Amino acid sequence: MELRGSHKGAQNAGHSPRHKTHQVFVGDVPVGGGAPIPVQSMTCTKTDDADATLSQIKALADAGAAIVRVAVLDKGCLDSFESICEASPVPLVADIHFDYRLAIEAAKRGASALRINPGNIGEMQKVDAVIEAAKNASLPIRIGVNEGSLAKEIEEDTSLDADEKLVGSAVAFVEHFRTRDFFDIVVSAKTHDVMRTISVNRALSEVLPNIPLHLGVTEAGSAFSGTIKNVSALSALLAEGIGDTIRVSLTADPVEEVRVGKELLKVLGLGESGPEIVSCPTCGRTKINLEKYVAQIEEALKDCKKNITVAVMGCVVNGPGEARHADIGIAGGDGSAILFERGEIVKKIPEDQIVPELLAAIERDF
Ligand code: SF4
Repeated sequence: MELRGSHKGAQNAGHSPRHKTHQVFVGDVPVGGGAPIPVQSMTCTKTDDADATLSQIKALADAGAAIVRVAVLDKGCLDSFESICEASPVPLVADIHFDYRLAIEAAKRGASALRINPGNIGEMQKVDAVIEAAKNASLPIRIGVNEGSLAKEIEEDTSLDADEKLVGSAVAFVEHFRTRDFFDIVVSAKTHDVMRTISVNRALSEVLPNIPLHLGVTEAGSAFSGTIKNVSALSALLAEGIGDTIRVSLTADPVEEVRVGKELLKVLGLGESGPEIVSCPTCGRTKINLEKYVAQIEEALKDCKKNITVAVMGCVVNGPGEARHADIGIAGGDGSAILFERGEIVKKIPEDQIVPELLAAIERDF
């Protein structure tokens, strides 16, 4: 029985196999079909300010966003959108509401995918024109559905509850696209409610088993409450193998959305490798400034790709026990800490050297 060493493997074994969906490509990024789950975000700059938008896209890409969505609001945005697409380090999704002609133009001007809510585009002939434009440019389309953009006949059906209307609308739109021989589809059905996000996406994965699902809780709130909502809903779904791409929407700097999304995938064992930091909540026994050191260690390791568990514990009561089960760790003492590696005590270090010594050991020994 192996009890020592990294416990990351054991944690990662807990989720169900990913649902196998039809793979589409957003630029060079695969979505669905078992591909790694791309984290998305959306710019909140003015799209007609190409410099500001590009600089935000670069920040999002640096944080780990694989795909970025950009709002194309009106004709005045199109030139700027085109130059943003040319310089973007990641593929861009043109986000279009209401005016189908903007989607057609965006497809010609460098978008790597289109996002439309067919329910707010108007007549289905207009949706068909967007489908044709996407076909001509070989782009996938994300079909968005929310309470404000249901399929007309389903919205009016009083026998259906709110979840059934969301799911039914998504199914109706997907069927419409399929009758036009268009299959490179991603579906998102969003609400601001955690439990409904879970139930709607579970239902979608059953009735549209081949369609990649874009997960997220919309209008989720601030970085604090929005993170809790998104993580609650998305972890439940991802643990069941549901979901092909995610966006954690927050009323905050979108870079924060990407950081939360990446960390969520990492702790679920679905993301890139990287250190997992295990830290104690501190208590009356803590005699070092643990909170500060955890923040410094987390920041220093944010781009590290080593698949290790790092324990940062406040004291020797539980500390060494936890630290021993990690790949590397420290357990605080009085103005000092003990450094452990692979279950063995390495040395005692003074408090002001905890962070540099730990980081140096990670760099040197892993
Ligand atoms: S590891 Fe020590 S300091 Fe941290 S919570 Fe447990 S007993 Fe308290």
